[in-house]
Amino acid sequence: MYNTQKIFVLVCLPLTALLFIPVILQDLFWQPQPFLSLPFNQGTKFKITEGRRYSEEEKAIHGYSLHYGIDYALERNSPILAPADGVAIASFHLAFASKLGGSAVWNADEARQYQGKFVGFGLGNFVQLWCQEQKVYVQLTHLERVAESIPFYKPTKRGNGWDPTVLYQSVEQIIKVGKPVKRGDVLGFAGDSGCSWGYLEEPGKSRPASKQYPSWDEVHVHLEVFQRGQGYGKKMRFDPYGLDDQAPAYQQPDSKKPGFLWLTDPDGNILHAK
Ligand SMILES: [Zn+2]
Repeated sequence: MYNTQKIFVLVCLPLTALLFIPVILQDLFWQPQPFLSLPFNQGTKFKITEGRRYSEEEKAIHGYSLHYGIDYALERNSPILAPADGVAIASFHLAFASKLGGSAVWNADEARQYQGKFVGFGLGNFVQLWCQEQKVYVQLTHLERVAESIPFYKPTKRGNGWDPTVLYQSVEQIIKVGKPVKRGDVLGFAGDSGCSWGYLEEPGKSRPASKQYPSWDEVHVHLEVFQRGQGYGKKMRFDPYGLDDQAPAYQQPDSKKPGFLWLTDPDGNILHAK
């Protein structure tokens, strides 16, 4: 008996552990395959204004250097489309850039000031897609409003901000409460919610007169791809262009071509285009 146990510990266990190495390696180096299309209609005028790293100008406003997403400046109310098939839910998020740096805060009096006004630094009205096939979430944020067909979940008031608690649910729950959408379905309309400057926004409402209630950023849609850890935490965040750089490094996708790409390699070559 003693010998059998010894053989098991010395031989079988290490062999079994070896079997798991490919699985672990695959997990560590996993990347989603190219699957996103542009989140707006072909022919829409747009400009990429921020890449995965913020421009110096934006860094000065809110004190962060990693942006994680892509910002497409568009005309207000341009339709925002699903860039992939998925399950969509919508909510509202308002937090503030912290004056101490680091993560965002929920109270305006702890917020960073820019030109004498606190910086609202939230997603605003947003849609989150769960893409089952790729096992990633895609967020499209700062919308003027969310399309009526997408279920909107009222967030929880937290300090002066709004916490979209619907996001904390499990994937199974999100599939149950969300709406299945197809690539190209309208999710909402471009705006600048969540980027408020010196005033408090409310969930589900459009921005009032922008002269009176300015935004610190132009009208744009922010697109972000990530996996989620426990709760609200974003576990892995992907750069849809694979460039990890500021906006000038990003190519302008040719909106005249059928727009399915668009992950590119670091040289800017399209990896997948149909
Ligand atoms: Zn952004």
